[in-house]
Amino acid sequence: MTRRVLVASRNAKKLNELRRILDEANVTGIEIVGLNDVPEYPEAPETGATFEENAVAKARDGFAATGLPCVADDSGIAVDALNGMPGVLSARWSGKHGDDEANNILLLAQLGDVPDDRRGAQFVSACALVADGVEEIVRGEWPGTINRNPVGDGGFGYDPLFVPAGGTVTSAELTPAEKDAASHRGRALRQLLPTLAALADN
Ligand code: IMP
Repeated sequence: MTRRVLVASRNAKKLNELRRILDEANVTGIEIVGLNDVPEYPEAPETGATFEENAVAKARDGFAATGLPCVADDSGIAVDALNGMPGVLSARWSGKHGDDEANNILLLAQLGDVPDDRRGAQFVSACALVADGVEEIVRGEWPGTINRNPVGDGGFGYDPLFVPAGGTVTSAELTPAEKDAASHRGRALRQLLPTLAALADN
C-alpha cells in the first residue's frame, strides 16, 4: 500500500527534490503530493521568528487540514556580517516578497565594504514532519561566502551570490543534482528519512 505524504508547497522543484531523496535512499511506499493535489485550506502567513517555527506551523496546518502526514520547510540565507540576517526575512529582504533580483542587489550593496575574509554566510533550511503522534523538526545548513557580483543562471533566490565552502563557483552554476547533494534543504530532508520510512511501513 502507498502512503500519501503532503509537502506543504506548490513548488514542483521542492516536491521533486523530496521524491529524488526518497528514491536515492530506496524508501518505497510513499507518494508525495503537493498543495495543488489536495483541497485548498487557509495558509497562515509566515510570521515566526525562526525557520523552525515557520516550518512546524506550516506542517501542523497541512496535517490538520488534510489528515495526511505533512512535510513543510522554511529556508533562507544567514549572513555573518549582518548578524544572521536576512534569515527568516530572506524572501522579502528588499521589501517586496519574492523579488530575487532586488534582494540580491540590496544584499550586495550592504556588503559593499565588507572585506573578503568576513563575507561568510550559510543557507539554512528547517524542515518539519507532522503526522499522527509524530512531530519532528530538523535543520540543514550549507556554509559558504557571498560573492562580490552575481554569477550563474541556475537555481533561484540568492544562488548567484553564494559560493559554497570549498568551491570556486556559485550555487547558481551547479547542476540540480550537485546542488541537491550539498544543499541545506537536502541535508535537512535526509534527516527525515527514517521517520518517513517508518510511516511507509505502517
Ligand atoms: P522559502 O523557504 O521558499 O520561503 O524561501 C525563502 C527565501 O530564501 C527564498 O525566497 C530565497 O530568497 C531564499 N532561499 C532559500 N533557499 C534558497 C536556495 O537554495 N537558493 C537561493 N535562495 C534560497
